[in-house]
Amino acid sequence: MLDIFSIQRTVEKNFPYFGINKKNEIIRLLYEISKKEKINFLKITRDLKGRDFSFIKKILLERRYPYTLLKEKEPRFYLPILDIQPENKLRIKKFKLYPKKIYFEKETEDLSLLKRFKRFFPRAEFIQIETLKDYLKAHGYTLKDYNLRKESFFIVKEKYDFLKNCPCTKDALNCGYSILNLGFGCPYECIYCYLQEYTDSAGIIFSGNLEDFFRYFKKFKRSSKLRIGSGEFTDSLFLDDITQYSVELINFFRDYPDIYFEFKTKSKNIDFLLNAKSSKNIVISWSLNPQKIIKECEFYTADLKERIVSAVKCIEAGFKVGFHFDPIIYYEGWQYDYKELLNYLFDKIKEDSILWISLGTLRFNPRLKKIIENRFPENKILDEELILGFDGKLRYPKEIRFNIYKKMLEFIRKRAKHLWVYLCMEERVIWQALKEFGISMKNV
Ligand code: SF4
Repeated sequence: MLDIFSIQRTVEKNFPYFGINKKNEIIRLLYEISKKEKINFLKITRDLKGRDFSFIKKILLERRYPYTLLKEKEPRFYLPILDIQPENKLRIKKFKLYPKKIYFEKETEDLSLLKRFKRFFPRAEFIQIETLKDYLKAHGYTLKDYNLRKESFFIVKEKYDFLKNCPCTKDALNCGYSILNLGFGCPYECIYCYLQEYTDSAGIIFSGNLEDFFRYFKKFKRSSKLRIGSGEFTDSLFLDDITQYSVELINFFRDYPDIYFEFKTKSKNIDFLLNAKSSKNIVISWSLNPQKIIKECEFYTADLKERIVSAVKCIEAGFKVGFHFDPIIYYEGWQYDYKELLNYLFDKIKEDSILWISLGTLRFNPRLKKIIENRFPENKILDEELILGFDGKLRYPKEIRFNIYKKMLEFIRKRAKHLWVYLCMEERVIWQALKEFGISMKNV
């Protein structure tokens, strides 16, 4: 890891007359440039000594964001204080999912989920709590806790928030998705995962009262053609062999043929689900990325081939599948890897077995940047040019995003002329500029 302390000391020594905010911006830019270019920061500071702040910032920004400064009209950069604490770094070890402690709300005592967890995790310590809310209030939360979240499970009774509209993002076209909240948290470690900044729980939460959701849903006033998924705040299938949600959900939604229910996953944990009789309105979907990205950025998830093999098994069992190229990661040569990936996908799976494909380029709340730097200091995804976008999230510059979608759609349309493809959390102008590729918000 770069010696941040040396950068700070050098900036202090070379620019003692700058205020603290200016020094912090210089430190951040020096860090990012030397990380990206893999050079010693002293090589950058050499020619800057004695120059005024606006000159130095201009030079550093031009080096850090050359494409953005050339192409974007009024780019907004995000240069927070550099604060990386080595103790927050995640050590990637062999994957093992066996909680040390399982906290359960008093009201979940009789739920079958708790009984199953007792059967599957006999060595875990089971601790009764009044409510998760009280527990969280009484216990602090730090990034180190997040790194250890696999060690604690919480079983709760969901009362209010079973179903919600996907919040999408400010000023983006919304695809009309609904989220079934069956838990919160995931044991996998995707570098870009937004849950890292979205949670305050030092464990993985499971809602145990699926039957209450079914009761609620029967009375729920809804429009037809709803699309519902359980993979927004968690991975839908990572523990399905134990939670056993899938079969109950499939059996329930089979009676609602006008509704699509989607299990979204990066796992290969489909065996329990395959016990259910298939139904055409049940969609099992995988997020896909080239194997290089899976290896570098999606720790503990199934590899690309395993995901595709799982999808083929689901199709053979009579289910429909979906794929989410989300987030698409930009890097030099990205288009060759994604083209290969799409060709591989369509070699293995025919267009008419796929219900939808979504495309979304990397984006995240600015708060996540510091979390990624702390947990994954060697990450490469932050080395690209990410600037504040139309919704205040960090995104690639608009032209890069447009070119990514265009290329992806060209690849897709060569192999799948009529497949429903939509963009996730993207602004109207980009949708409009890509209309010729037949992308649409329509529900199938
Ligand atoms: S699989 Fe999804 S929920 Fe789990 S860490 Fe990766 S991005 Fe987050």
